[in-house]
Amino acid sequence: MYDFAYHRPKTIADAVNLLKSKPEARPMSGGMTLIPTLKQRLAKPSDVVDLGGLKELAGIKAEGNSVVIGAMTRHAEVAGSGDVKSAIPALADLADHIGDPQVRNRGTLGGSIANNDPAADYPAAVVGLNATVTTNTGKHPADSFFKGLFETALGEGELITSVSFPKADKAAYMKFPNPASRYAMVGVFVAKTKDGVRVAVTGAGPCVFRVKPMEDALAKNFSSAAIKDIKIPASGLNSDIHASAEYRAHLVGVMARRAVDAANK
Ligand SMILES: Cc1cc2nc3c(=O)[nH]c(=O)nc-3n(C[C@H](O)[C@H](O)[C@H](O)COP(=O)(O)OP(=O)(O)OC[C@H]3O[C@@H](n4cnc5c(N)ncnc54)[C@H](O)[C@@H]3O)c2cc1C
Repeated sequence: MYDFAYHRPKTIADAVNLLKSKPEARPMSGGMTLIPTLKQRLAKPSDVVDLGGLKELAGIKAEGNSVVIGAMTRHAEVAGSGDVKSAIPALADLADHIGDPQVRNRGTLGGSIANNDPAADYPAAVVGLNATVTTNTGKHPADSFFKGLFETALGEGELITSVSFPKADKAAYMKFPNPASRYAMVGVFVAKTKDGVRVAVTGAGPCVFRVKPMEDALAKNFSSAAIKDIKIPASGLNSDIHASAEYRAHLVGVMARRAVDAANK
């Protein structure tokens, strides 16, 4: 299960060269998902390329109207960052409610969105805030980055380097957490900007999605009352031992209204 070559490159170029030269190589950030995947024998990479030595992927900086967060930034660093708290408090709050302290101190922004678990929290913020995902080869707008269940727009050997989150006039994230893991059974990120309103849902479907009828209603009247009669169809939503599709559909409405109320506080 641990039969692989371990590499810890010091530059992005070296990491990418390694990934390209070994077709079965996998990058590793905090290993919070990758290591359990190896233990369960769901993956058997020939080489693991540890991104922990890449200083270019670390750090948080305010840039104009956005906050740019390096891919290797741990959830606890986002939660505790003064820059994030003052620019986009909803994002700091989201990071502060991921998993438990161990997960928040190992898990990373880049690893979370590259993995694109259907119940992960960050995809809702990336889409809700209309963020831009930067990689070693270019930029991905939020709406075209998350492709489906555990699937993203990343190509072979493509590494996320940072994510740029624009500030919002108002924003909040509300989730109904799985009581064991804290992953989102349903999480809704709502953001109001000069370009309109975005409502991004995670946990409910195979992949993060937007709710256009809610966005249109909130653009006219940014209050929870404006979306109280909007029903989400259960068809196509996740149904498992944790919750039925119908229950998740119901939770989308509840979490969206709570998020709007929180954003208005
Ligand atoms: C017990 C537990 C509870 C959790 N609870 C939550 C929760 O409540 N909410 C939540 O959102 N998440 C939760 N997580 C997930 C966690 O937050 C991590 O973000 C996630 O596991 C990814 O871990 P990582 O960042 O260490 O990435 P890794 O495990 O190192 O990598 C994950 C995947 O991304 C790829 N990858 C890593 N970095 C990059 C990069 N820069 N570019 C391209 N590909 C890359 C890897 O090859 C791998 O396929 C939980 C995890 C655990 C174990």
